[in-house]
Amino acid sequence: MRKYRLLLACAAAFTFTFALGAESAVQHAETPAEKTPPAPKEPAITFNSVHVDGPYIAMTFDDGPSAVLTPKLLDLLAAHHIKATFFVIGENVAEHPEIVARAAREGHEIGNHSWSHPNFAKMSQENVRSQLQRTDDAIKNAIGKRPTLLRPPYGSITEREKRWIHDEFGYEIILWDVDPLDWKRPGPAVVRSRILKETRPGSIVLSHDIHPGTIEAMPATLDELEAKGFKFVTVSELVDMATPVTPRPSPQQGEKTPPKAIPVVSPTPSPASSPSG
Ligand SMILES: [Zn+2]
Repeated sequence: MRKYRLLLACAAAFTFTFALGAESAVQHAETPAEKTPPAPKEPAITFNSVHVDGPYIAMTFDDGPSAVLTPKLLDLLAAHHIKATFFVIGENVAEHPEIVARAAREGHEIGNHSWSHPNFAKMSQENVRSQLQRTDDAIKNAIGKRPTLLRPPYGSITEREKRWIHDEFGYEIILWDVDPLDWKRPGPAVVRSRILKETRPGSIVLSHDIHPGTIEAMPATLDELEAKGFKFVTVSELVDMATPVTPRPSPQQGEKTPPKAIPVVSPTPSPASSPSG
């Protein structure tokens, strides 16, 4: 009996470990961890980055709006004619709906980032639903329409949550492939160099419009990204541009233009353990 129990415990531990491993799976993470056979035609609902033809990227700013910093950032983005995506905290939206309204009016996308930034993976379905619904309502009040994107705080979310949230709210789950760790406040120069080093076509760049150093880093960061030829779109626009990941070209095609170096698999943040997002 004791042996049997031990075996059960081991099996449980293994399942748990496996589930954790699956949690950090890479882009378009439709993890085939459950018993249902993979449905290849099913569209992806989770994105760390997007496979695109062209130098398109999405800048994303989390945790705002901030009364002081977000307007500064909006001025800068307007000067560059850059559209970005803001993953906002419901509490902050309720406090500064006019800033969110301005962002939307100026062409930026607004996504749901929860009401008060808890860790979804450790919460009941009911509490997660409440976090999402309150924020969805606050965004609707501020900009007149509901968001279609969710970024879970810390990037922490279970496969099961992704599924029911997508079914109930229609959200796509947006993570990231470029993380300058700006929340550690390493200084503007470091934020800039990390973003420039990691960004490639199809990237979703994470940062936060609640840290002064991040906002200070942005003028030079945007200048240099533009100088490298990147074009800025919102996350939904980037997702709409997704092209199939094609296998290596056949020899006949091979003599034409060589494929641009568009990396398919991006380094995945380990959302559950990372305080980013
Ligand atoms: Zn966040």
